[in-house]
Parts: sequence; structure tokens; C-alpha cells
Amino acid sequence: MADATSSEKNGLALHWQILIAMIIGTVIGVLVNPGEIEVPSGVTAKIVSNAAGVQLVETAASGDVVHSESFASKEAFADSFPKLAEQWTGDAEQAVEVSDMRARLVYSLGSVSGSWQRSHDGVPAVTTFSAGSVEQLPTFWKSLANDHPPGFAGTVTTVAKALGDLFLRLLKMVTVPLILTSLITGVTGLGSQGNFGRMFSKTLGYYVLTSVLAISTGLVLVNIIKPGVGAVLPGGGKALEAADQGLTEIIYQQILRLIPTNPFAAIAEGEFLSIISFAIMLGLFINFVGGEHGTRMREFFESAFAVMMKMTGWVISLAPIGVAAFMVYATASQGLAIFGTLAWYMLTVFLALLFHSVVTLPIIVKVFGKRSPLAYLKNMSPALLTAFSTASSNATLPLTMNCVEERAGISNKTSSFVLPLGATINMDGTALYEVVAVMFIAQATSYDLTFAQQIIVAFTALIASVGAAGIPHAGLVMMAIVLQAVGLPLEAQGIIIAVDRVLDMCRTSVNVWSDSCGCAVVESSSVNAA
Ligand code: ASP
Repeated sequence: MADATSSEKNGLALHWQILIAMIIGTVIGVLVNPGEIEVPSGVTAKIVSNAAGVQLVETAASGDVVHSESFASKEAFADSFPKLAEQWTGDAEQAVEVSDMRARLVYSLGSVSGSWQRSHDGVPAVTTFSAGSVEQLPTFWKSLANDHPPGFAGTVTTVAKALGDLFLRLLKMVTVPLILTSLITGVTGLGSQGNFGRMFSKTLGYYVLTSVLAISTGLVLVNIIKPGVGAVLPGGGKALEAADQGLTEIIYQQILRLIPTNPFAAIAEGEFLSIISFAIMLGLFINFVGGEHGTRMREFFESAFAVMMKMTGWVISLAPIGVAAFMVYATASQGLAIFGTLAWYMLTVFLALLFHSVVTLPIIVKVFGKRSPLAYLKNMSPALLTAFSTASSNATLPLTMNCVEERAGISNKTSSFVLPLGATINMDGTALYEVVAVMFIAQATSYDLTFAQQIIVAFTALIASVGAAGIPHAGLVMMAIVLQAVGLPLEAQGIIIAVDRVLDMCRTSVNVWSDSCGCAVVESSSVNAA
């Protein structure tokens, strides 16, 4: 099997280079992590209730306003701050002591974001915010930011993010031409229409099977561990109206994307589903036309594909730098305190992802793909490590294709079809995560979901994972449709946002691993069928 990149030929294998880069990046990130900022104690929450509603003003001992918010009614206030409301007797004006506040400010290229954690009677609530610049922060935060200038940690995080972004841009640069040329070459190489139909149904069958298995794993574990029981989320109040039109809407939107009104615009905008369907059609029609024109077109795309593979190989040789940069960014900018609050939730997601990737998928690779799962994992490791650090299966796609073809020896016919489509619609990790997160929110807000409702969660999670783009945090955004389908409060998502990056990194690796395993399965059945 050919080596993946030229840099590998000179020494250390790419997966080792990336692993070492990850470790170095993590160590640097942890060392420069600015940690939590202690907010001056003695913050008081003044609650004023009048005809206009409820006004909440939190003030530090220095007199600076920390946070102020208006609510239309007492109920709305109690929904957002259940613990504060409990301590509040409902007088026209009352001051309630906030027992502890900790803050965290994160600086990245020209913007400041952060979170503050406070507790009332030891029950934590977390609020996150972001501002374009220090100037846009409220007075209190501005003074805090001035007391804790970004300094060395901020510079390191900023440089790391900038470097990582350059690597991401290079990956994105090669992705669309790579998908296009690879898919057209793959389809023209399939020859007859029958072969394409077989490949299509096998691939879709694999996607559905593994997504359902991933969702079941998540559902079983979240019901056994029950991470949400006893956990407190902000906004554990009334359920929103169930809105089910989101589901059909989402399916219809995906179908519309399959028919681009202007394929060139779709290519320009990097609209994966549109590019995939157009490339497949173009490949099929090149075969239909055949003869002199068909041959010329096929050969042109084959050559273009060979050039794109070479360019991709060069970009991939830079992966260790990009991965190290992303690890510095991820570890330097994450607050550690939040992990304690959500430890059980994170553990449940993590265990379920682990089970799916080290038990379920390897069994499928062994039985249906007829390969050693361990050797295959090693072949795929550069892509999996890159998926982990970038949290984007789209950005990882060039590496995934390279590893599958060059390191695992799978044919371009299979990989060019299974991988781009998989990066767009097959997201086992995301589907599993949606189920665990929504069940966690349900448990924490004491909504007993019946068995039938859990099935709705499972089904909508599958749709959400199909609809999610292969970019960071897409799964979190799509979760709204799952929450709405069973009438759970959308604002309860607030607390899990804080740990989403870490979980995103894990689920993205599983998404990419599942797409890769799909290649092994489809390849093996095509070889057997041939
Ligand atoms: N980041 C994931 C991916 O790119 C999608 C998600 O947010 O779950 O695969």
C-alpha cells in the first residue's frame, strides 16, 4: 500500500506525526489556559416586580452592574431563574444574595466571549455571552476584562486559531474540486447503470443501519446512567409548543438541495448535496454518451482527479501543524470548572460513542467488510485525529479520502461515492449525541418521556443528523428540531453549549470513522459481487 504523503516517506508515519502534534498542542494549551476568574464576592440580585413585569439586576460589591434582565411576567422570571425565584418571596422589591460567582473570559481574534457561573444555594447556573470587542461588554465585564488582559494566553490562543484557520482554508480549498473530480471519475469507472444502483442501495443501507445502531446505543446508555437526574439546568420551565413542521421542512430542504438550479452556483457555494447529485448525474451521462465524447470527458476528469489527489497530499502533509494549532486553541480556551457540572452527561456521550466506535463498527468491518478492524483503524488514524481536532467532517474529507484510498487500498469507485455523501448525511456520532443530549435535558427538567416519545426523539435525531452540516457545532444547532418535536424547552440547551466543543470533537471522529467503515463494507460487497 502506498504511503500517504511525501513527508511520511522521509520518516515518521503521518498518524504518529499528528498524534505527537496533538499532544504538544494539548500541553501548550493546558499550560496557557487562563483558568477561572474569581468575581468579587458579595454579588446581590435585586428583583423588582411591578406592572411591567420583573426586573432582575445583579450588582457586585463595587456597585458595578453584572447583569440585568427584564421579564414579562413572574412566571417567565421563575422559568429562567428557578432557584432565585424560589428564594424570592415576591415582594415589590427584594435583594437576594448570590452565594458564589466565577467568570471566564476568552479572547480570540478581535472578539471576547465568556461565561459566568453563579450558584444560589450551591446550585450552579451558567450564562454564556459573546461580544465583538472588549468595548461591547457591559461595564462590569469590561472592568473584569481590563483587570485580566488577554496577555500571553490570549496571544497564544489567537495565533493558534489563526494558524489552524489557515490549515482549514487549505483543506476547504481542495475539498470541492476533489469531490467533483473524484465522484465523476468514480461513477464513470462503474460502467453500467446497474453497478451504480447496487452501490447506491448498499451505501444507503449501511448509513441507515449504523445510524440506528448508534442511536440505540445512546438511548440504552442514557436510560441506564440517567445523567440528567438531579442535574440543574437554567430555564427548566414550561415546555414549548410542540412544533412538528420542522421535520418535513428539513427533509424537503434536503430534497431541494439534490436538484441545484445552478450547478455552478452550488459549486461556488460549496453546497455538498447539490455537488454530489450533479456530479453523479454528469458521470452517468458521460457513460450514456460514450464513444469519443464520453472517453474525452472521462479522461479529462481522471486527469483532473489525479492532480487534485496530489494537491491534497501536499495539504495533508501540513496536518500536524494544523492539528497542533487546533489543540492549543481548544485546550487553552475551555474553562475546566464547567466540566465538573456536566461530568455525567459528558461521560454518557463519551461511553456511547466509544461503544459504537470500538464494538459496533469494528464488528461490521470484520463481518461485512472482511478486514481487520485494528489495521483499518490504523490506516484511518490521520483522518480520525484531524476530525477530532477540527470538529468538522467536511474539512476532514480530503484526508479521509486520502487515507481510505492510499493507506487502506480501497478503490476510488467506492470511496468517491461513499465518503462525500457520508460526510454530508451519515453522522452516527451526531445522531447518538442528539439522543443523549435531549434525554439528558428531559431528565434534568423532569420531563418524563414515554417510550413513544423516546422513539420520536430517536427518529428526529436521525433526521437531525442527516440535516446537520459537517461543520463544528452543527449538531447543536440541529438539536432544536428534536427538542421541539417532544416539547422540551429550547433554552435548556444553554448549559450544554459550554461543553459542546469537546463532545463535537469526539462525535466528529465517530462520524468520519463510520463513513470510512462504510467504504470497507461497500468495497467488500462490490468485490464479492464482481
Ligand atoms: N461537527 C460535526 C461534523 O462535522 C457535526 C456536528 O456538529 O455534530 O461531523
